Amino acid sequence: MSASTRSHADPARRDRAAERQRMVERQISSRGVSDPAVLQALGEVPREAFVAPEAVDYAYHDTPLPIAEGQTISQPYIVAVMAEAAEIGPADRVLEVGTGSGYGAAVLGRIAEQVFTIERHPGLAASASACFAELGYDHIEVRVGDGTLGWPEEAPFDAIVVTAGGPADPPPALLEQLAPGGRLVIPMGRDPTGQELVRIRRSDDGRDLVREGLGAVRFVPLIGEGGWEGEEPAPRHP
Ligand code: SAM
Repeated sequence: MSASTRSHADPARRDRAAERQRMVERQISSRGVSDPAVLQALGEVPREAFVAPEAVDYAYHDTPLPIAEGQTISQPYIVAVMAEAAEIGPADRVLEVGTGSGYGAAVLGRIAEQVFTIERHPGLAASASACFAELGYDHIEVRVGDGTLGWPEEAPFDAIVVTAGGPADPPPALLEQLAPGGRLVIPMGRDPTGQELVRIRRSDDGRDLVREGLGAVRFVPLIGEGGWEGEEPAPRHP
C-alpha cells in the first residue's frame, strides 16, 4: 500500500499520541530544542502517516527512514532543530525545498500560516500531497521542480528550510526570495557527503545577510541549478 492509499482515518489504526509525546521528551527536548511551538508541532504530526508501510512500526524511532526514490524521511530531532533554527512564527509564509515524504512540511505547517514545498521527484510530491489532503493540511502547497530556484510567484518568504545538502554557496534564488528579517536554514558543504547546518538571516532593512554555523549534519544531496549536478549516488541515510 502506498502513502497515498493509506487511510489515516482507519479505526484499526492505533493511536500513537503517547509514543509521539515520548519522542518529543526523549529525543527532542532532552537534547536542547525548547521552542514550545516546535515541540507542540512534533507532538501533533502523525509521522506514521508519512513513512513506508513496512516502516510504520519504527515511525517514532530516533532515526531517518527510507522512503521511495532512494530518499529519506529525516530524523525527528533534525526536523525539530531546523524548524527551531528557522524561528517560525504563526503568521509566517515558509518555503521548504525537498518535500520528501512531506513530514517536515507537515511539522512546519503546524506552526506557520502557509507552507510551500518543492520536490524534484514527482512520485514523492504526489504521495506527500495525498498525505496532506488526508490529514486536512490544506495550507501546504506542493510543487514538482528544482527547489534551488525557489518559488518566485509566492516570494518573499519569512523562512526557507532546505532539507537536502547543498554546496558551499547558497542558491542565489533562495537568498533573493528571503523577506527582510527572513531566515534561510540550509545544510552546506564542500562535498556532497557531509555538511554544516547554516542559518542565513536577512537584516530587517533587507540590505545585509548574516551567516551562522549550527553544527555538522549529513543529508542527501541537493540536486539542481543552485545545488550539485546530476543524479544522486546510491541511497544513503542523512
Ligand atoms: N523533509 C523531508 C521529509 O520530512 O521527509 C526529507 C527530505 S529528504 C532528506 C531530501 C529531499 O530533497 C529528497 O526527497 C530529494 O529528492 C529532495 N531534493 C533534492 N534536491 C532537490 C531540489 N533541487 N529541489 C527539490 N527537491 C530536492
